[in-house]
Amino acid sequence: MFQSVLIANRGEVALRIQRACHGLGLKTIAVYSEADREAPHVRRADQALCIGPAAAGESYLNQAAIIMAAKVTGAEAVHPGYGFLSENALFAERVAEAGMVFIGPSAASIRVMGDKVAAKRAMRAAGVPCVPGPDAALPDAPDQIRDLAREIGYPIIVKAAGGGGGRGMRVVEQETALLGALSVTKEEARRSFGNAEVYIEKFLARPRHVEIQVLADRYGNTLWLGSRDCSLQRRHQKVLEEAPAPGIPEALLAEVGSRCVEACKQIGYLGLGTFEFLVEDGAFYFIEMNTRLQVEHPVTEMTTGIDVVQQQIRVARGERLTFTQADIRCRGHAFECRVNAEDTERFVPSPGTITRWDLPGGYGVRVDSHAGAGYRVSPYYDSMIAKLIVHGDTREDALGRLRIALDEMQVEGIATNLALHRRLVRDQAFIAGSVDIHHLEQRLREGELM
Ligand code: ADP
Repeated sequence: MFQSVLIANRGEVALRIQRACHGLGLKTIAVYSEADREAPHVRRADQALCIGPAAAGESYLNQAAIIMAAKVTGAEAVHPGYGFLSENALFAERVAEAGMVFIGPSAASIRVMGDKVAAKRAMRAAGVPCVPGPDAALPDAPDQIRDLAREIGYPIIVKAAGGGGGRGMRVVEQETALLGALSVTKEEARRSFGNAEVYIEKFLARPRHVEIQVLADRYGNTLWLGSRDCSLQRRHQKVLEEAPAPGIPEALLAEVGSRCVEACKQIGYLGLGTFEFLVEDGAFYFIEMNTRLQVEHPVTEMTTGIDVVQQQIRVARGERLTFTQADIRCRGHAFECRVNAEDTERFVPSPGTITRWDLPGGYGVRVDSHAGAGYRVSPYYDSMIAKLIVHGDTREDALGRLRIALDEMQVEGIATNLALHRRLVRDQAFIAGSVDIHHLEQRLREGELM
């Protein structure tokens, strides 16, 4: 039973975790880079330690510095947040070796799920539906590779086993392009992820992105906490998310949810996790599992009424879940807009000082953010400055509330994607629900959201 938590992260998620810790009566220890000296996660922590220069590689990704900080402050647990070291199996191992609790699944679980081929194999074995294609490394012989691709049927997608962040993927429309695409992706994967293994699967033309949140304690109690739809993406980056995924029959969701639970039990999964699926023509296809807290967790919190970050910490402390699957009720509908400091003409980050910061408010409105008037958005880190989350009794109700909240929110001094969100929530296809993962980029190309 740990009493103190070092939060190995920054920004809104560091604050989110601090709040959960304080709610549980735990002491919080912040780490920060030289660029974040004045950051709110530093000010509000019980204790804070500088771990290096602004560049993330030398601070928030510096495992030795973070473990050292944990040791000197006497931290008993480490929460990695999302991004940075959150899905780094070696880091989870080093935390455990240093005698502290890593708030997340075991290093072994992270390792299996971090390898997309191994993950697919494990999921298939557990009865989770996957995208058609082999769940093994590709053979060397070009003839055999061509045969495999033909069996799947074009178009196919070549993906790096160690890929992430929407990188290391290439669509192949026809056989003549297959071997070329394989060697380019392999080389890219070797350089970017240190793992040249690639695999192929069916490329789904117009899928939606639907995911299932899971939560497991150490005593075999594993629950699924409803669904989220994150189809509105640009360059594979989620822009706006909602819960539950609209238009999917409850019985189908329950079937997929229980498969996810089964898969967790089979691999001995602990803590929070997300199963990501592509959904096309009413069928679910597993693409990957995220073994960490996700940016979009608030929409699940708003619909289930469960503080998932507190639950994540509780199960890491060895506590038993105090509710069962029958207690999970999804009430109403929630949306989350990722507000980024970016120029949406060219989609480039827009660092600088925020001069005006008017937040929306009222019933069913929540803003998770580390920014404010006078805050300087650093060019060193992710450009997300706030998450605007709303809840309503129905999807329509929540969408109405979101429109008002977006109009109320005013940020000046830097460019943001707020105007894009305002147009998006008035887009007829989005209002109707169930748009596919290409919808946002298609509308941008058509100039509809400008
Ligand atoms: P990452 O770990 O980089 O996020 P994912 O495997 O989750 O990679 O895929 C990211 C995105 O790429 C998906 O949300 C989807 O938009 C697209 N994608 C991945 N696999 C396929 C596929 N088989 N067919 C169509 N699109 C895909």
